[in-house]
Amino acid sequence: CVIDPLIAHSIQLDTKCQVLPRELKEQKKILKKSKRETERYEERVEALEEAVLMAERAGDVIEKCKSGGRGRPSRVDSCESSLCLAGKAKKNTFSSLNVFVCPNCSKNVHRVCSFQFTVEEDLQLSNAMKICLDCSVGSTMSLDTRDTLLKQVASRLKRDLEDDGILLAEANEMVTELEDNLQKSSGPTRKKFEEVLRSFGVDQRVWLQEFTGNNIRKILRPQNIDAILA
Ligand SMILES: [Zn+2]
Ligand SMILES: [Zn+2]
Repeated sequence: CVIDPLIAHSIQLDTKCQVLPRELKEQKKILKKSKRETERYEERVEALEEAVLMAERAGDVIEKCKSGGRGRPSRVDSCESSLCLAGKAKKNTFSSLNVFVCPNCSKNVHRVCSFQFTVEEDLQLSNAMKICLDCSVGSTMSLDTRDTLLKQVASRLKRDLEDDGILLAEANEMVTELEDNLQKSSGPTRKKFEEVLRSFGVDQRVWLQEFTGNNIRKILRPQNIDAILA
């Protein structure tokens, strides 16, 4: 369509959150990409929220151990770590009881018992390389040391969650702006442009379909458009 580039240019001017390409088609691609990005951040935020919660629960179990409470024996089978938190907690305390084999000592250890709380795929790769807590710190560490380590892990997770929350909000904002400008033609420049077209007696529905004639090209001289968009 003859006016596509002009619409694209209007959208370009109306979109503040990022620099858009000149082509309408490319702009739509950016919207698609931004949507995918939003989904990815949503997943990350969700995974990190879960991880923060699991870290808190691990902390509760350590607290309980510190206060010397024996508690009832758990229905969860203990792993081979020096302190199996899952085995000391109620059955549904941890949403995931994945076990990994430590590459150093070959013991089967719950991820949560080694303070590995993220199960997100791209983080899993680095987790797979990780050795267990006993191997990295020593199996004789005190409960206080465990507690301190756990708090460090937890605050790192919270920081990541915060960062990803901000990125998600930004991505959401971008998608909303692009959708408004691309699909709902709500940007001020585009509105103005469409107003002017209407003032020439051109109906919006018509110019989307039959916008080819010489008259139209006359109406849409570049200098006119430049004046409108200025
Ligand atoms: Zn365990
Ligand atoms: Zn190990």
